[in-house]
Amino acid sequence: MAKKHKGKLMFQSPKGMHDILPHDGPLWDKIRKELREVAESYNFMRIEPTLLEPEALFQRSLGATSDVVEKQMFALKTKGGDALVLRPEGTASIARAYIEHGLSQMGSPLKLYYMGPMFRYEQPQAGRFRQFHQAGFEILGGDDDPIYDAQVILACYRMIESLKIKDIIVKINTIGCKNCRPIYRKKILDYYKGKVAASKGKLLCRDCEKRLSVNPLRLLDCKTPDCEEIKKDAPVILNGLCSYCKAHFKGVLEYIEELKIPYVLDNYLVRGLDYYNRTVFEFFADVSLESERHKKAQKTEKGQLEAEPMDVRATHVALGGGGRYDYLVEMLGGKETRAVGGALGLDRIIELIKQSGIVLTSKFKPKVFLIHIGDLAKKKSLALLEELRKDGVDVSESLGKESLKAQLRLADKSAAPLALIFGQKEALENSIIIRDLQTGAQETVPLHKFVAEVKRRLK
Ligand code: AMP
Repeated sequence: MAKKHKGKLMFQSPKGMHDILPHDGPLWDKIRKELREVAESYNFMRIEPTLLEPEALFQRSLGATSDVVEKQMFALKTKGGDALVLRPEGTASIARAYIEHGLSQMGSPLKLYYMGPMFRYEQPQAGRFRQFHQAGFEILGGDDDPIYDAQVILACYRMIESLKIKDIIVKINTIGCKNCRPIYRKKILDYYKGKVAASKGKLLCRDCEKRLSVNPLRLLDCKTPDCEEIKKDAPVILNGLCSYCKAHFKGVLEYIEELKIPYVLDNYLVRGLDYYNRTVFEFFADVSLESERHKKAQKTEKGQLEAEPMDVRATHVALGGGGRYDYLVEMLGGKETRAVGGALGLDRIIELIKQSGIVLTSKFKPKVFLIHIGDLAKKKSLALLEELRKDGVDVSESLGKESLKAQLRLADKSAAPLALIFGQKEALENSIIIRDLQTGAQETVPLHKFVAEVKRRLK
C-alpha cells in the first residue's frame, strides 16, 4: 500500500515504532468499539494510567532480573532528575494507580480495563515492535476466587473472538504460591544443575546460565532450541502444589471447561515476571491446530492433576497473556490485595486480521452525499451539512472539488442512498435537489424543509 520513497528521508519514525495510517483507522476503531462492549458487558471500568512511570515501579514489580527490566526499558532522566521510563506494560501502572488513588474504596473487587501504547526496547521483527499496543482487563480486590481468573480469561477470549479470529487456544498453568513455589524452584535448580554438571561443559545459553543463579523458574521461559531440549524432562509443578493452589487451579480449569474455552495445560508456562503467582495463561492463534494439542488434565486415581508435556511451536502466534498477582499491590506499598489480569497485543491481532483476510465492517456509512456547484452554493454548503449532522444524519461530501462529474463519482463510491445537489440556481432560490442514487429520481425541495425531506426518504 505505502509507496517506497527513493533516497533518504529527512525524518523517519524511530526504529521499531510505526504510525497508524488512515487505511488502518477503521480496524483500530473496531477494536476500540469491541473492547468497550466486551468490557461493559462484564462490568469493567476504564482506566488510563500515565505513559511515563517511575523506573523503580517496574524494577520492583516485574523483577530487576526480568528481560523487560534488564534489557527493554526506555529510560530517561527529567530535567529535575527523576528517573522515568515509558511504560513497558499496564499491570504495574494500574496497581500503582490503584494504591495512589485509593481505588479500593470504589468497590471490591474492582474491575478495570485499559488500552494504549507500551514501549519495550526489543530487536524489531515480525510482530515485535518497540512501540506496540495492549488492551487489558484487571480484577483487583475481593478474594482469590478462581471465578475471577476465569472471568479475565473469558473477557480476553471474547475480545479476540469478537474480531472473528478463529482457533484461539489458551495455554494455562499454575506457578503456585509463596508456600509451594520455593520447593518447586529448588527442584528446577537441582534438575538444571545436574544437567550442567553431567554435560561437563557449556550446555545452557548465556541468558539461562544467568537465570540459573538469579531466577531458575525463568529457565523454563527460554526459547532457544538447546535449552528447550533440556526443558523437556524438567520437573513439572502440578504434582508439587500445596493443597490450596491445587484446589484453586482445579477451580479455574472447571470454569474454563464450563465455558467451553479451548485450552491446553502447559506445564512449563511461567511468564517471566516476578509479580505472578498461581494461575498464568497465554492466548495463541493456532495457525495449524492439531487435535492432539488439546491435551487436558487427567485425574489419576490419587486425584493428582497430570498433563502430558505439550508441543506448542511457531505455528502459534502469541496474542496475549496474564495471570494472578496476589502480592503485587503489597510489593508496591499497598495493602494485601488479591488480583488477576490479562493483556492482549493489539498490533499482532491487527496483523492477523489483515493476513487472514477477515473483513470487519465498522466503516462510516454516510446516508447522504452533498454535491455543490458554484461559489454561492459552496459558501452555504458547510452550514447545510451542519443542519443534517445536528439532526443525526450521517453525511459525506467532497468540499473543495469543483467538478460535478468528480463529485458524482465520489457520491457513488460512498454508497450513500441519497445525494443532495446544491447549485447556483438552488442557492439563489433557497432550494436543493434530493437525488435517489439508486433510481436516479430527483426532486427539488425548499431549503427550510430539506432536512425533514431527507429523513422521510431515509425511513
Ligand atoms: P506479554 O505480557 O509480554 O506476554 O505481552 C502480552 C502480549 O502483548 C503478547 O502476547 C503480544 O501479543 C503482545 N506483545 C508483547 N510484546 C510485544 C512487542 N514487542 N511487539 C508487539 N506485541 C507485543
